[in-house]
Amino acid sequence: MIINVTMMIHLPTLAGRAYRCHCSSPVFFRNSECLTCGTPLGYDPTLARLIPLMPGLSDGAWVLWQAVPAGVQAQEYLRCANLATPAACNWLVPVTDGQAPQLLCQACRLNRTIPDLNDAAHPDNGVLWGRIELAKRRLFSSLLALGLPVASITQDPERGIAFDLLRSPDGGPPVMTGHKGGVITLNVQEADDAVREAVRSAMREPYRTLLGHFRHEIGHYYWGRLVSGTDWMTGFHALFGDETQDYAACLQKNYTQGPPAQWWLHYVSAYASTHPWEDWAECWAHYLHMRDTIDTAVSLGIANHNSYSAHLEFTPFTLDALYQPDHPNAKHFLDFLNDWTRLTTLLNEMSRSMGQPDFYPFVLPREVVAKLHFIHLLVASSSWLPTDLQGTEAVQEVIAQQTDSQPMGTQAASQAQMQSQSGF
Ligand SMILES: [Zn+2]
Ligand SMILES: [Zn+2]
Ligand SMILES: [Zn+2]
Repeated sequence: MIINVTMMIHLPTLAGRAYRCHCSSPVFFRNSECLTCGTPLGYDPTLARLIPLMPGLSDGAWVLWQAVPAGVQAQEYLRCANLATPAACNWLVPVTDGQAPQLLCQACRLNRTIPDLNDAAHPDNGVLWGRIELAKRRLFSSLLALGLPVASITQDPERGIAFDLLRSPDGGPPVMTGHKGGVITLNVQEADDAVREAVRSAMREPYRTLLGHFRHEIGHYYWGRLVSGTDWMTGFHALFGDETQDYAACLQKNYTQGPPAQWWLHYVSAYASTHPWEDWAECWAHYLHMRDTIDTAVSLGIANHNSYSAHLEFTPFTLDALYQPDHPNAKHFLDFLNDWTRLTTLLNEMSRSMGQPDFYPFVLPREVVAKLHFIHLLVASSSWLPTDLQGTEAVQEVIAQQTDSQPMGTQAASQAQMQSQSGF
């Protein structure tokens, strides 16, 4: 059937990706200052916004640019101590009365080990670390906007998260990227494009990125945190299988025999076929790919721009493909999913026009659609939103008034509102 490409917001927007400085210039998630007017910029992960800054009253503190109307107390921030390092972290650390200020932001605080920046034998450690931290911030901006639990191992030794960003010893065994007990290990050389591309090609993978690694590994973490030992296990077993089968033997079998015939009817990737835990982590990563990319498309106004309309051959998924077709919000997820398929069909053609690899080199089979719906229901039920957002709407309105732009930053609050109303 022929369907006109029209993007609609079927799920709440999370971390909107279109930001503007107070001078109205577009600014981007990674920016620490406006390239037009020089105003410092910082990302507030609670608001899920990149905001223009001016010095606050306290020493070294910053506040939102000229934006303190009567009745709204200015939130003071420190800049993350990693701003002036190769990590170039532009995140903000809120200053809370009566509490000792944190020096690192919520994302940087999760690092347990970072590359040695004084290693004369590996002067590229800083550059590689910077790329890793940018991908990590992108990951956590989504997780925080989704309202998922994010705590460091220092804060929560039992259930927290830590990152070991390790470089393999020269001539020694390579560091294996993976997750165990809340600790995510990343081989730093994955940030080297030539190294990563060589591995991708050798492994015959269609897609390999730092962000993909992080989204996959954090999926393992949330399985242990949100699924294991809960009522969700029944659904997990029905969709993903028995996770008690020997993990090492499964990996070995995949290594020697390859994936099962016609794996693409059941899995989102060949690697997902190795073990239920890997199937879960792969689907979790795709769920985050989808949420963030749709957010970006909606934030940038693709939905409303006629020039993006197109006619594409597309057979939409139907409700019976979902995990719970009778769920009261099933139609919202179905529409989101079909938007995703339309968008990626379009973007794949755009990529091919430039001779680039496909934007999204995957096909979602029906079985994976059910798995994604299961993950969506889990994420929605695990979110701490809509609490903890009081007051943010007032501040965001101020930003919107100043920037004379499309409404900036009501997404987080409206997301909370929508979630509380509809039970996403
Ligand atoms: Zn500016
Ligand atoms: Zn930081
Ligand atoms: Zn894995």
